[in-house]
Amino acid sequence: MPKKVTKIGVLTSGGDSPGMNAAIRAAVRTGLYHNLEVFGVMRGYSGMIDDDIVKMDSRSVANIIQRGGTILKTARSKDFYEPSGRQIAYDNLTKRGINGLVIIGGDGSFKGAQKFSNEFDIPCIGIPGTIDKDIAGSDFTIGFDTAVNTAVEAIDKIRDTMDAHDRLFIVEVMGRDAGYIALHSGIATGAENILIPETETDIEELICSLTEKERRKKLVNLVVVAEGDKFGGAEIVKIIGQRLPHLDTRICILGHIQRGGSPTCIDRLIASRMGYHAVESLMEGRHNVMVGILNNKMNYIPLDKAVKAKQKITNDWLRIVKILAS
Ligand code: ATP
Repeated sequence: MPKKVTKIGVLTSGGDSPGMNAAIRAAVRTGLYHNLEVFGVMRGYSGMIDDDIVKMDSRSVANIIQRGGTILKTARSKDFYEPSGRQIAYDNLTKRGINGLVIIGGDGSFKGAQKFSNEFDIPCIGIPGTIDKDIAGSDFTIGFDTAVNTAVEAIDKIRDTMDAHDRLFIVEVMGRDAGYIALHSGIATGAENILIPETETDIEELICSLTEKERRKKLVNLVVVAEGDKFGGAEIVKIIGQRLPHLDTRICILGHIQRGGSPTCIDRLIASRMGYHAVESLMEGRHNVMVGILNNKMNYIPLDKAVKAKQKITNDWLRIVKILAS
């Protein structure tokens, strides 16, 4: 029989993503509803080690559902990689009687949670909070939809000036080694070419496609490049400058604006559902799983599976890109 969870800690770890606050709010309020004591751990695993842990009540999470970032702050903790750091973290939790954790973060945070939970008797439930959508077991990760919408809004603006000047624009979007932000924002803005790490970028094919479009007098040319692409935006613009010097080519690297801002409705909804189900899961005795949503149903996969498997981009998506860009 798993031990009854009575006091839980909630933390955000790794890179921040818009919607984390909605997940914190849901976890805190669901815990309080079930008469659990709820603690907020500041700055991810760093706060566990530094004993920066605060009691939460319903008012602590008021007026945050619409805010980007995370009220609990987030951090990357070197000390948590060490057994000695994790021991201090455990001591700080147990002196308060915390016997369950909700960890909102990316795959690195889940690796840490898996280790911690294997070593000590504290069940951990992960919630996928990352704009990159690079975690298996969930159709959504918190922040992805907001990041894509931010990218789309920015690219729409770039398109206006690009069109006015007949320029070729290379826009680099985030996503680390996943191409989902590039794929979604590229399709949604009608990009002519989308370069992503999941497929081998063929420079000759890109040059050929741009030349062919030029021959057909297709004036607006937009290439969306994922930051994790083999070449990346800066290299692509350099190559095009050398191979097609007559084109007026510009680059825009969108960067961290994609991480901020008010979360979209979808991100608030999935964060609320995941936060609620994370606490319910702890109470049902689940441990070391990530709460995801697959085909609109809650889905629970072991943390180590969420870590290892990356989502696949199907051929169907790639065909859509090719056909619609013609
Ligand atoms: P994002 O993908 O947005 O960057 P993330 O959760 O993957 O988020 P990481 O920096 O990889 O971010 O991990 C967050 C923290 O989790 C690390 O700083 C570290 O404290 C802990 N962590 C990651 N991997 C391990 C591991 N193998 N062992 C122990 N702790 C780990």
